[in-house]
Amino acid sequence: MTNRYVFSFAEGDGHDKKLLGGKGANLCEMTQIGLNVPPGFVITTEACLAYLDRDELPDGLWDAVTEEIGRLEQANGKTFGSGPDPLLVSVRSGSAMSMPGMMDTILNLGLNEASLASLIEQTGDARFAYDAYRRFIQLFGKVALGIADEKFDEHFQAIKEQAGVAADVHLTADHLKEISGKFLEVVQAETGRDFPQDVYLQLRLAVEAVFRSWMGKRAVDYRREFHITSDMANGTAVNICTMVFGNKGDDCATGVGFTRNPGTGDKEMFGEYLTNAQGEDVVAGIRTPKPLQEMEREMPGLYRQLVELRNKLESHYEEVQDYEFTIENGTLFCLQTRNGKMNAAAMVKTSVDMYAEGLITRDKAMLRIDPELLEQLLHPRLDPDTDARPVATGLPASPGAASGRCVFDADLAEKIGHDGEHVILVREETRPEDIHGFFASEGILTSRGGKTSHAAVVARGMGKPCVAGAEGIVVDIALRRAIVGEHIIHEGDVITLDGATGEVYLGAIPTLPPHFSDNLKKLLGWADETADIKVMANADTPEAASRARDYGAMGIGLCRTERMFNANDRLPIVIDMILANTQEDRQEALDLLLPIQRADFIKLFTVMSPDPVTVRLLDPPMHEFLPTQHDLLDQIKTLRIYRDVVRGRQTALASISDAPALPDAFAELSEEHVNDALLKKERMLKKVLELQETNPMLGHRGVRLGITYPEIYAMQIRAILEAAAECARNGIDAQPEIMVPQVITSQELGHVRQTVDMLTAELEQESGVELHFKFGTMIETVRACTRAARLAGSADFFSFGTNDLTQAVFSFSREDAENKFLPMYNDSGILQDNPFEVLDVFGVGRLMQMAVTEGREQRQDLKIGICGEQGGHPRSIRFCHHIGLNYVSCSGPRVPIARLAAANAKLLEKEFH
Ligand code: ADP
Ligand code: MG
Ligand code: MG
Repeated sequence: MTNRYVFSFAEGDGHDKKLLGGKGANLCEMTQIGLNVPPGFVITTEACLAYLDRDELPDGLWDAVTEEIGRLEQANGKTFGSGPDPLLVSVRSGSAMSMPGMMDTILNLGLNEASLASLIEQTGDARFAYDAYRRFIQLFGKVALGIADEKFDEHFQAIKEQAGVAADVHLTADHLKEISGKFLEVVQAETGRDFPQDVYLQLRLAVEAVFRSWMGKRAVDYRREFHITSDMANGTAVNICTMVFGNKGDDCATGVGFTRNPGTGDKEMFGEYLTNAQGEDVVAGIRTPKPLQEMEREMPGLYRQLVELRNKLESHYEEVQDYEFTIENGTLFCLQTRNGKMNAAAMVKTSVDMYAEGLITRDKAMLRIDPELLEQLLHPRLDPDTDARPVATGLPASPGAASGRCVFDADLAEKIGHDGEHVILVREETRPEDIHGFFASEGILTSRGGKTSHAAVVARGMGKPCVAGAEGIVVDIALRRAIVGEHIIHEGDVITLDGATGEVYLGAIPTLPPHFSDNLKKLLGWADETADIKVMANADTPEAASRARDYGAMGIGLCRTERMFNANDRLPIVIDMILANTQEDRQEALDLLLPIQRADFIKLFTVMSPDPVTVRLLDPPMHEFLPTQHDLLDQIKTLRIYRDVVRGRQTALASISDAPALPDAFAELSEEHVNDALLKKERMLKKVLELQETNPMLGHRGVRLGITYPEIYAMQIRAILEAAAECARNGIDAQPEIMVPQVITSQELGHVRQTVDMLTAELEQESGVELHFKFGTMIETVRACTRAARLAGSADFFSFGTNDLTQAVFSFSREDAENKFLPMYNDSGILQDNPFEVLDVFGVGRLMQMAVTEGREQRQDLKIGICGEQGGHPRSIRFCHHIGLNYVSCSGPRVPIARLAAANAKLLEKEFH
């Protein structure tokens, strides 16, 4: 049996978005729950794939479409392509994932000379009919025949100017008739053929064009940018829907709404509408629409119906909806609904509110938020204390603040943005083809269009600030400048946007870091109660630790002690330690470092008390603390020249009989001084050469270093234990965890453990306090994974160092991979993700799973976590939950994301595969 390719709105399964696309499935669902949707049908995504595969419509499709058109004719009492009551339809795309504005819709299909004449006769409204006709010709010309908008716009503008009218609504029937005529000529001139009069041919060309748009550049770019894989959405469905008209008079309107305010999350009627207009007018920002609230005065009866529609949608979908409606001669139709895209603050607020209203469960309240979205809440706001005055104000279309250089077109924005410049895209209005400019920009500013204009919708989806409809700004693309009152902004000038207020400033205005709302705290509190996995932070300094605390970190999973060494007051001591030729010299330097490290640890333990702080002993190869060979050679060369100069001066002074007295400045550096400096540099160079390794990252580092220079680790361990003792004396509950890096065998752990035990005994005796700590190992070598059972015998905890482990498993270094071939591997689909960002579940993950199983067989209460960068990534966290890790550790600002991801991992654990 062949597949069924067509479903009427009354039949299609509203849950099958993969087959019917999101728009189609919801049109079916709405029809079936009794909402007023114009009759129509859906052509499936499978039909699209079959078409793209063979480059022709699959067998049986067209018969089914013709049959459905027949049913539409019957249902509406209309005829397709002729009078007296002609059937007009829209042809709309829609895939499983909402890709707003990605593929174009054709309206008013079914108009030809015959049906046009009937339409005029039937409605007695020639203006309306010609308006529909010219829209259809242009849309059809653009979408199905590939004719650029400008070809049509030219004529439209010319006639508008000739007629001396400013707004489209003032064009008369004759003007529109003339425009339609011109448009038909454009089609003839551009394609060499007449505009198709056969309405079935129109339909067929339109359907095929929608199918093809799935592989169009815009759609492909969008899917790549948002990581929409073919598992998530494959092919687009086509929705054929009976036309209803919002442009038939003053009891007609069209609009879009959100069931809640998508900027703030507030529960209120939100949206915009235009009377006497067709759908696309609102979205395209051609006329500036009115807020829905105004409808309450203008059309109170219909406003009440709209409120009812809003309520039904939300209670049925249990989710904030973004809907489209049209009112035709006093009758309200719903044309689309989908889950509303909101910024993070609104998502969080609606989650908390809808739970409180009893509309959704607490689990759903967490699950409906993509944890990555919270990133937005960690974005800066404009400093409220700034005394800068805005130069223009538009609509606050998407919150957040951003500064950057003005750029007036998307291509240039992309170019400059990719060079690392901050860019603000400034346009009169934006269109779907500007999408790449959005990706590259920090914020978007438009001078036309409302809060539901293309610019606003797309920016909100991306969480980028947007000010829309700033009518005080006149954008002059030709001269590449914008005029704002008495100011002229040239391309490249810096401006600042505040998407929360709609204000625009000249120059860069300072911003403030974001703060946690009470709603977010509440939501993350639920997450912590739900999750099995704990979320720790990677933090190296007391300051970073206290920031991590604010983000809700439940401890420190990784403190890289070497980061403490790099501060200015310490590096010289560290260098002395490295340069030391004898153990005594080295000890001298270590004795200086000890109190510094101890003081750091006391602060860290105190900030995190009573939660654990995992301290990793020294990990990198020593040469990382020394200058490079190249720099040293350079310095030595200059010093030698300088020594010759000093020497030369001495010789000169000695050979002149009555030598002049030189000013002090020249006498300061004696040859001796220079020699000292030179000697030190030469020693460093010698050391650098000595330490040189072919593969330093695979060389003398980590525990290998700790074993060859035991006094280094001894100093660090002592600092940790003394800090713990000091905390204990001060009544602070410190939970240090000593972690050994780069381990391959339990003997290494045994070695370090001896030092730990010895120092513990000594300190306990000395201080009289009992020391509590854990001792564990990084698991970041392949051998450590394979020897996990043995290692567990000598460790209280494991921490997967998935940065090094990934390099080892893939056998490529991160820097080389990311700079050379990884992007190509990702683009061509050889690798789906960057394994340094997203845990490679199939390779690295298998080793981890093995290590977990074997480690826990040896020691049931073994605590296991991950401290690689992937630990902050939601998908990776899901895997970590699946294999039973106790914690993930990630950078401070990712902690909130990880907390929600940990809860969602728990809630979705049954669906993991
Ligand atoms: P998008 O996916 O870009 O939202 P749509 O298919 O929803 O595209 O259509 C674009 C515009 O045309 C919307 O404003 C929509 O409401 C309007 N529209 C689509 N179909 C019809 C129809 N049958 N009658 C009236 N307006 C329609
Ligand atoms: Mg739509
Ligand atoms: Mg490492």
